[in-house]
Amino acid sequence: MTSTFDVAIVGSGFAGSLFALVARRIGLSVVLLEKGSHPRFAIGESTTPLTNLLLESLAIRYGLPRLLPLTKWGRWQAAYPEVGAGLKRGFTFFAHEAGLPFANQGDGRDRLLVPASPRDEIADTHWYRPDFDHFLVKEAEAEGVDYRDRFTLQGVRRSGDTWELEGRRNDAPAALTARFLVDASGRDTALARTLRAPLASPAGMPRTQALFSHFAGVRRLDTMPEFRSASVSPYPLDDAAVHHVFEGGWIWILRFANGITSAGIAATETFARELDLEAGEPAWRRVLDRFPAIRAQFAGSRALRGFDHSPALAFRRARAAGPGWALLPSAAAFADPLLSTGFPLALLGIDRLARALAEDFGTPRFDSRLAEYETVTLAEADRTAAFVGSLYTVLGDFPRFVERASLYFRFAESVEAIARANPSDDFSRSIAFLDLPELAGVSAPCATSSAPV
Ligand SMILES: Cc1cc2nc3c(=O)[nH]c(=O)nc-3n(C[C@H](O)[C@H](O)[C@H](O)COP(=O)(O)OP(=O)(O)OC[C@H]3O[C@@H](n4cnc5c(N)ncnc54)[C@H](O)[C@@H]3O)c2cc1C
Repeated sequence: MTSTFDVAIVGSGFAGSLFALVARRIGLSVVLLEKGSHPRFAIGESTTPLTNLLLESLAIRYGLPRLLPLTKWGRWQAAYPEVGAGLKRGFTFFAHEAGLPFANQGDGRDRLLVPASPRDEIADTHWYRPDFDHFLVKEAEAEGVDYRDRFTLQGVRRSGDTWELEGRRNDAPAALTARFLVDASGRDTALARTLRAPLASPAGMPRTQALFSHFAGVRRLDTMPEFRSASVSPYPLDDAAVHHVFEGGWIWILRFANGITSAGIAATETFARELDLEAGEPAWRRVLDRFPAIRAQFAGSRALRGFDHSPALAFRRARAAGPGWALLPSAAAFADPLLSTGFPLALLGIDRLARALAEDFGTPRFDSRLAEYETVTLAEADRTAAFVGSLYTVLGDFPRFVERASLYFRFAESVEAIARANPSDDFSRSIAFLDLPELAGVSAPCATSSAPV
């Protein structure tokens, strides 16, 4: 028998499940299709004050109080200690030169500490995605979403105003129809071909690759003489998103309270090839060998799973929406994890799409709302790519890097102030991500290129 839904969502990462929850709260019937099953590994963990303010605003506006504790470290630990998380008090940056010990010259010269919250209780978090995404999908089910995991999608057809989806689940054929189709499959963009959303250039970003895993036994910086400083740190150095930056790339280190540490490298194509990143663990050892202080931090660590290699980290689709369909922002584009912009972009997109559904689904205005969603989604993705791309050009010149990155942190502070003043405000209309003339001014064009399909 074919089931019929208002909305079919393909992909149950945090964004798909959250969109499913919101769509249920505005009264729509929702099916959520997942090719795998939870809990499962997912990369992308570090939140920012803006991420948490946007999540809080969605939870308030759509009556999802069980999500509120996830927006602050203290409330999260009290409400859901079983859902893994890490404490994030700020952004920590250290500058390194290949082959040399960390110079440890001090603030602005080879270290930048950007505090995001004054105390642990109200601090940001790193989401341990296996737990976090699993939690959200269970919430979605409890809210009446028809969740189908291990679903192999085999065909998607438009028939009049309806989408017909066919697939297999538990070795049996499965068919369903929906009026609106959402691709929430992240960088897989599972529906790209069906929806004619080919890859386009992520303008302003150089070609980049990434190599990453989860680790045990990564040393804390505050136990290492290499990173000791005379100046007082505004927060414990490791309770942060730690970035080691150098010419050609950077390494992230995010700690979870369960003892697991997420770490990886994002590197320009040239540096990635030099390191042969696609080789996995041997390449990781080559990376560490270039930077003695980082090698010391990982001495005694071990990878808890195989390494993932992303051969084309930045991507951007030519389309983000059309009649009866939309890609969530994380399926439409991604620039780089450098400033943790993935989550806020996804949350802004979820809110915009939800508003369009709540206000105009089934009316003649809906198509123009989707066109507007597409324009804003791609513009935000492009501005992010251009700005982060401009940071890539100064990774090896730390004072200039600090100067540029500080522009972003000032932008973030100003929108956070607006958001804090009224948490139930209409952010997705009032915030256009990175839409600031002074940010556009530093977006130096890099070589652009299409990522391979
Ligand atoms: C290396 C790296 C580091 C990052 N770090 C950060 C960070 O620190 N902070 C930040 O804000 N952002 C970060 N990001 C971005 C962040 O990962 C994404 O914004 C986020 O994961 C998007 O979530 P999602 O739910 O849209 O997609 P995903 O988490 O990718 O989930 C997609 C889901 O769709 C499912 N799926 C795929 N294909 C199909 C199919 N055919 N049928 C059914 N289901 C399917 C998958 O199994 C998966 O469960 C990072 C990204 C990368 C690559």
